[in-house]
Amino acid sequence: MTGGKASSAGAGSPEDRASPEDWGPLDFDGHRVEPGESAEVRLRVGESYVAEEVSVPVTVVRGQRPGPRLFLTASVHGDELNGVGVIRDLLNDQEWDGLAGTLVAVPVANVPAFLNQDRRLPDRRDLNRSFPGNARGSLTARLAHVLFSKVIAPSDFGIDLHTGGGERTNYPQLRCDLGDERTRDMARVFGCTFLVAGTGPDRSLRRTALKKGVPTLVYEAGSPRRFERPFIEKGKTGVLNVMRHLGMLPGRPELPPLVFEIDSTRWVRARAGGILDLKVELGQPVRKGQEISLNTNPFGRERSALKAPLSGVVLGLTRLPLVHPGDAVCHLAKLDREQLAAWREVWAAERAVTGPPPS
Ligand SMILES: [Zn+2]
Repeated sequence: MTGGKASSAGAGSPEDRASPEDWGPLDFDGHRVEPGESAEVRLRVGESYVAEEVSVPVTVVRGQRPGPRLFLTASVHGDELNGVGVIRDLLNDQEWDGLAGTLVAVPVANVPAFLNQDRRLPDRRDLNRSFPGNARGSLTARLAHVLFSKVIAPSDFGIDLHTGGGERTNYPQLRCDLGDERTRDMARVFGCTFLVAGTGPDRSLRRTALKKGVPTLVYEAGSPRRFERPFIEKGKTGVLNVMRHLGMLPGRPELPPLVFEIDSTRWVRARAGGILDLKVELGQPVRKGQEISLNTNPFGRERSALKAPLSGVVLGLTRLPLVHPGDAVCHLAKLDREQLAAWREVWAAERAVTGPPPS
C-alpha cells in the first residue's frame, strides 16, 4: 500500500512524517482510496443462518495531506445508538477538504446485534469482551478479529462510542487509561468534564487497542435504543476536538471549562425491592448524605431511602423505576470540595441552557 500505515506508533509514526510526495492512495481491504477521496466499504465477517453475507459497513476518508489514522467505532454493543448518530452527523455534515491523515468510521460495528436491537450477538457473547478475536472462532470472535485487524490495529488513535447498558443512562464522560500520556492528552481536549481513569475490562476494545499501541477513548453518553441529541452533539464536538488536537483538522479544540480526572466511582444499590422515585438527575452535584432515591411498596408505603455515600457527581442512573435488592440505582464519582463547588456553577449554567438531561 503506497503511503499506507506502517506502524501504530501514533504521533511521530512514519505516516505523520511522510512528506506530501509520499502521501498516496490507501489500500483498505482491497479498495483503493485516493487522497481527497472517500470510500464506502463492507468488511466481510461471516454468513447468517440464511447463508447471506454478514458484513460491517465502513467509511474511509483519505485526507489530501499526510497525518495520523483515526478510527471511530459505534454500536459495539448493538443497542447503543448515540454513537451511530455521532458518526452519521459527522459523515453528513462535515467538509473534509482540510483533512490531514485518514478517518476510518464504523457506524455499526456489531451488525448482528444491531439487527436484533440487542447488546450482544445471537450467541449471547459480548463483542466488547472478545478482542482481538480469532479468524477461525465463533461469529463474535470473527467479528472482533475483522474489526481489530482491519480497523483498530492499523490506526494510530481511536474513539469508541458507547451509551449506558440495559436500563442505565450515563452523563457524557470518557473512560480511558489516563496513565498513558497520549491517551490522556486526547481525553483532556475531547470536551468532557469527567474523565474516568481505568484500563478497561480484559479483552475490551480499548484495552486491547492500547496494548497494540493505539490510544483509544471510550465516550459514554446517554442510554441505549434512542437518539439523544445533546449527547450526539457533544460526541461530535469531541471527535472534531480530538481531530484538531491530532492536527487532522485546522483550528484548536474547544476546551470545556472544567476537566476532572476521576479515580474512584461508586455504584449505589437498592437495599429493598420496590418502586423507585429518583431524587437526582444526571450530572447533578450531590453532597454526602443527600437523598438519591425513595423506594416504596405497591401500597405507597416507604421501604427505603438511599443516601449519597460520598460527595460528588451523578455519572449514571437507572431509567427503570423498579428495583430488586442489589440493583444499581446511581453511579457516583467522588469530587473534592473545590471540584464540587466549581462543578455546581458550571452544571447550573449548562442546565439553564439545555434544560434537564434526556430521561
Ligand atoms: Zn457499550
